[in-house]
Amino acid sequence: MRFQRLSELKPPRAHERVLATLPEEIRMAEYAMAKAFQINELVRSIHKGSYEWYGYTLGSREKPELVADIGLPRNDRNVTEYTSVGPERIAEYQESLPRGRVITGWIHSHGSLDFKGFSGTDEKNQATVLDYVTALLRKPVAKREVVIQDLVMLAKGDYGETDLERGSVSLITDVPVREARILEAVYGGFCYGIVIGDQGWHRQEIRYKWRGILSGQTTESRKDAGMTLVATGRLLTQADIDALAEEVREKIKPEARAPRERYEKECT
Ligand SMILES: [Zn+2]
Repeated sequence: MRFQRLSELKPPRAHERVLATLPEEIRMAEYAMAKAFQINELVRSIHKGSYEWYGYTLGSREKPELVADIGLPRNDRNVTEYTSVGPERIAEYQESLPRGRVITGWIHSHGSLDFKGFSGTDEKNQATVLDYVTALLRKPVAKREVVIQDLVMLAKGDYGETDLERGSVSLITDVPVREARILEAVYGGFCYGIVIGDQGWHRQEIRYKWRGILSGQTTESRKDAGMTLVATGRLLTQADIDALAEEVREKIKPEARAPRERYEKECT
């Protein structure tokens, strides 16, 4: 990065203009929430145990903030990898989706376990999903001034090699300029993390990532987020449940070794 050094400069009262906002809470279709808990029930009835599973929160490209659906990928049989969501697996699932549908985060179940929070493993998965989702869905959220100390202004055709040795950044313009301000686009993205339990509880967080296009300055943060259920007109029908049962039968295959035991170790 040519301008890497700029990121180290703390701009004194740099000008920033907000262009767009990122969600502060999670809005989720009632259908999607009903589906998540239905998966929990189906896992218990089909696989005769309260096994954990994971899926993705899905939105539309136009309205990624709304969780419109839950996607259930083939959960790994291997217990070691079971709770780990890799970028290849996310990409693979994204490619299987219809155009316009996008992964916006991930959801998993703690089954009957009474741990209503995110474990260390969950944190790692969240970071992986965040990287993937923000690469896919980032948008310009601000224009921020990059304050450059020792900016050297040069005019085209009117400078020599030694002039380029001066200053931290050289700005070459077609006409002589005395003053310049540089504003960079800041790209921002988010991803959702939701954890649910058999007893009907759910907890969720939003992770954010911002990156200045010129300075390369990257910041991340997370927050516990509220959840608002949205009536979209779509309801979970018996036909949906039957299709979901097939998916649960096919995509969730608990090993003979109880995943719960390992899971509890990781989560608590
Ligand atoms: Zn967990």
